[in-house]
Amino acid sequence: ATFGTLSDRLTETFRNLRTKGKLTPADVDGTVREIRRALLDADVALSVVKDFTAKVRERALGDEVNKALNPAQQVVQIVNEELVQILGGEQRRLQFAKTAPTVIMLAGLQGSGKTTFAGKLAKQLEGEGHTPLLVAADLQRPNAVNQLQVVAEQAGATVYAPQPGNGVGDPVKVSRDGVEYARRQQHDVVIIDTAGRLGVDAELMKQASDIRKAVDPDEVLFVIDATIGQDAVNVAKAFQEGVDFTGVVLSKLDGDARGGAALSVASLTGRPIIFASTGERLEDLEPFHPDRMASRILDLGDILTLIEQAQQAFDEDEAMKMAEKLATEQFTLEDFLDQLQQMKKMGSMKKMLGMLPGMGQMKQQLDDFDEREIDRTEAIIRSMTPGERRNPKVLNGSRRLRIARGSGMTVTDVNQLVARFDQAAKMMKTVARGGTPNIPGMGAV
Ligand code: GDP
Repeated sequence: ATFGTLSDRLTETFRNLRTKGKLTPADVDGTVREIRRALLDADVALSVVKDFTAKVRERALGDEVNKALNPAQQVVQIVNEELVQILGGEQRRLQFAKTAPTVIMLAGLQGSGKTTFAGKLAKQLEGEGHTPLLVAADLQRPNAVNQLQVVAEQAGATVYAPQPGNGVGDPVKVSRDGVEYARRQQHDVVIIDTAGRLGVDAELMKQASDIRKAVDPDEVLFVIDATIGQDAVNVAKAFQEGVDFTGVVLSKLDGDARGGAALSVASLTGRPIIFASTGERLEDLEPFHPDRMASRILDLGDILTLIEQAQQAFDEDEAMKMAEKLATEQFTLEDFLDQLQQMKKMGSMKKMLGMLPGMGQMKQQLDDFDEREIDRTEAIIRSMTPGERRNPKVLNGSRRLRIARGSGMTVTDVNQLVARFDQAAKMMKTVARGGTPNIPGMGAV
């Protein structure tokens, strides 16, 4: 889906920050560099990316992060806030005229989704008690008037189209007459569908600009296909210079767009995105909320939870104590039990690990991991005396039988645990000496 890859990339970037206490300037630079690459790969305009990363970098190196209890989380918040800003900041609603009719003119390339949007908007306005009139001022495409009539019928709205012999071929006259017709017929909103070309051209711009001058619309909505990638920059700028517009409609956000157009256009033009069009059905229209879009891109809920859990679970002081113990070879079953409890603090391990992007190759290991294993291990250790926990070497046959009964497990289970603990203790020593980390209890029995 749109933003899928970008989301994954950003989550991945933040994952690398998640267990950090203080952030060094190098951490910040690394993170900003990753964000920059992810945005460029998502086709976000270069100038927008530059501005964005400069702001994030400046803030991330400042006091707000330095003094934060949780610096990594603070950086994510900053990225979120700046993302909301480039998406336009506050939500902007459609503006209605003080005296009816409100005139809304649509502009955009051919195929951008103007006609479809006209139908969607009419339907939505109808639902809110308005009486929209659709004006067919796209006289370029042979079938355009017809297409508008079809969506209008679905939306239950009226169409004003040029009558044969009267204004055929003159979109400016049709637009002016359409508004006049609306006034007489008491339609309180007029939506003018204009012609688009496959590319930006001067004649098209002049026509749109002439219509604008003729009807003095309350809103000029520029409809842009979210899937057009880097072209978004040129198209948006051309329409801004040629017609100027008051707001943006992002269409085809349901597709596989990389999202660059969506992320660039508000910032490039200084005009707010008002609607998101998310499908071919007339119902598929949503008001655009910059904050919700940013959260969606960042998968914010997931990222923040991830950071919190990881930081709780890997409490630094605890880790230091553990490391000391390991170094002095005093790691006992008691410590093992502590570790298991730390792991349980992380919540459902599978869910937690599942939140990390790039876990694909670890999927098998995840599937093999049985959380109940931790509970069973815990039950066995709890059935041991403190002395036994400190020194498992005293565990003879009768003690093992007693522990098995006490924990509701078999002697074989107890034997396996003791064997695994020996292994884990060895592994932990390796870790303490700087070897490859591994979490005891995660391996299969
Ligand atoms: P116009 O030339 O600007 O009037 O564009 P149209 O409204 O005719 O739309 C061009 C094509 O895009 C049509 O096939 C529409 O069904 C399709 N379309 C429009 N909006 C959306 C949308 O939000 N999502 C999807 N998937 N398709 C859309």
